[in-house]
Amino acid sequence: MIDFRSDTFTKPTPGMLEAMFKAEVGDDVYGEDPTVNKLESYSADMFGMEAALFCPSGTMTNQIAIKCHTQPGDEVICDQLSHVYIYEGGGIAFNSLSSVRPIIGNCGRITADQVADAINPDDIHKPRTSLVSLENTANRGGGSCYDFSEIEKIKEVCLKNNLSLHLDGARLFNAIVVKGEKAEQFGNIFDSISICLSKGLGAPVGSILIGKKNFIKKARRIRKVLGGGMRQVGYIAAAGLYALDNHVERLADDHRHAKMIAAALEKKEFTGTILPVETNILIFDVNGKFTPASFTKRVLEDDIKVTPISKTQVRIVLHLGITEDMVARTIKIIEGL
Ligand SMILES: *Cc1c(COP(=O)(O)O)cnc(C)c1O
Repeated sequence: MIDFRSDTFTKPTPGMLEAMFKAEVGDDVYGEDPTVNKLESYSADMFGMEAALFCPSGTMTNQIAIKCHTQPGDEVICDQLSHVYIYEGGGIAFNSLSSVRPIIGNCGRITADQVADAINPDDIHKPRTSLVSLENTANRGGGSCYDFSEIEKIKEVCLKNNLSLHLDGARLFNAIVVKGEKAEQFGNIFDSISICLSKGLGAPVGSILIGKKNFIKKARRIRKVLGGGMRQVGYIAAAGLYALDNHVERLADDHRHAKMIAAALEKKEFTGTILPVETNILIFDVNGKFTPASFTKRVLEDDIKVTPISKTQVRIVLHLGITEDMVARTIKIIEGL
């Protein structure tokens, strides 16, 4: 089976399993798990930020961050395709009692001008705008990356209007690798950053929330309220540390593979628009002899799993479980469709 449905389908490598097996652990709710403490300080240092918090999922790191940055009745500005808005079960309303101002962006990215236009005036009729949440790379935007200069402009708007700035960086390392950026650049700009260790980085579980000391102190309290306090979780944190040390640079392979598959699809009549392939996600329209559902069914006959994500689009995601050979086999199958 070649599973392109998501980069969450990765399984721990032998090296990662060995690191997990050897992990030193303690009770992390007491702050006594040395491996978790190491992962938290290591990732905070990577971004030049003060502190970090290990959580079970990226949904939890995002939701905790939003809870910390908002008060009930506030409003969050984000792209209409943002994970925090469309894939977190209405969590912004449920957890933070806040509303969302969804912006129609470009492949999941919004601009500083759009942010400025979406800020509510100081008027008792309006929710108080308090947070801007960006996603880099943007999942539903086809793994698109922000230009760093646009993020800088958005930051200026936030500073001028007293807004916090959160980054859903579930796949931030994909952007960093493809753009040749530095983690510290992001640490210098954002008030909080959420990173998934369980996507393309290949850890079985876990996300990390990074920010200032006081912010993380507050976040730790909210994690406990949500039931996210974990005990001897160093076994899992060890996988995250291993991923950060061994699986970042190899993301470039996934990006190359995504482009190779896109090139094969481009030659087929049934392929419509392909969103620009910048990282490990490939989103394309199918038409003519296939619908997204029938395309998915057809390639499953050849042991390939993809996801129909809308009435017109199919999504393919590359990750460390997809080898060079699997990519070659997939291209052959596409050529024969
Ligand atoms: C996967 C993902 C998350 C977090 O998802 P979990 O499954 O809860 O870990 C957050 N944001 C984006 C953009 C994602 O793709």
